Amino acid sequence: MLVKFSFSLLFLTLNSSLALGQAEPTSRAWNKSVPPFRIVGNLYYVGATEVCSFLITTSQGHILLDGGFVETAPQIEQNIATLGFKLEDVRILLNSHAHLDHAGGLAELKRKTGAKFIAAAGDAELLKKGGHGDFRFGDTLSFPPVDVDQTIGDGESIELGGQKLTAHLTPGHTKGNTTWTTRISDGARPYDVVFAGSPTALDYQFVPKESYPGIAADFERTFAVLKNLPCDIFLSDHGSFFSFLEKRERLGRGENPNPFIDPDGYKKFVTHYEEEFHDKLELQKKAAASATLTPE
Ligand SMILES: [Zn+2]
Repeated sequence: MLVKFSFSLLFLTLNSSLALGQAEPTSRAWNKSVPPFRIVGNLYYVGATEVCSFLITTSQGHILLDGGFVETAPQIEQNIATLGFKLEDVRILLNSHAHLDHAGGLAELKRKTGAKFIAAAGDAELLKKGGHGDFRFGDTLSFPPVDVDQTIGDGESIELGGQKLTAHLTPGHTKGNTTWTTRISDGARPYDVVFAGSPTALDYQFVPKESYPGIAADFERTFAVLKNLPCDIFLSDHGSFFSFLEKRERLGRGENPNPFIDPDGYKKFVTHYEEEFHDKLELQKKAAASATLTPE
């Protein structure tokens, strides 16, 4: 089984008990500390067990993708220092999407690094409002608001110290959900790296009324985009999407080739969530049709 548990349910549990913050068991379980390590080349893992955060280092400063929960930020700071890098050398801050488990720590990380925060236009408002007014969660998944210094469009890239990262808009999970790609060199060999944005459809509505206008078409487009990305190293914003803990252990044992090189795992992941989305869509269509047929 690709995923060990239902993310939709976990996410909703998280939502319903959010007021309890980190005392809430799901978020605590997702936020256990992990010793930071090098994934490949100049790409490092600096996140927690389930909420991921990645550091790409260059001679001109570093790029940090995702900030975890509010409570993850101090772990990320410590992890960067443990690896021997300076927090203030982080020049660019990026985000997969504007939910509290990936954007919660961004405000603190931006303040401490002084980095430029670049995000997709579709999520910029939600990031600036700290998650208030989310199309599904309203004001219940709030996090510290974070200023967006620059928005980025589909297929556009950022570059720092010769390292290029490209944004692929993969909306649906949020309106600005972003999949970042880059190429990392390790010795002679370059690897295509995909940081897949969450493709989960949670309990969103597609028929008869969409959670937001165009959400079903957004998901369809997202899966078409994800399927076409070249991928050697498969990473994502949630650890369980790419069997993070298992691969980390295998890498720690010195497994060769590097277990994070997983093009097949990436394909299975995309197929799994595309099927899940279509299943939800079909169920909703059937329910809508039977509701219309029910006699008065
Ligand atoms: Zn999310």
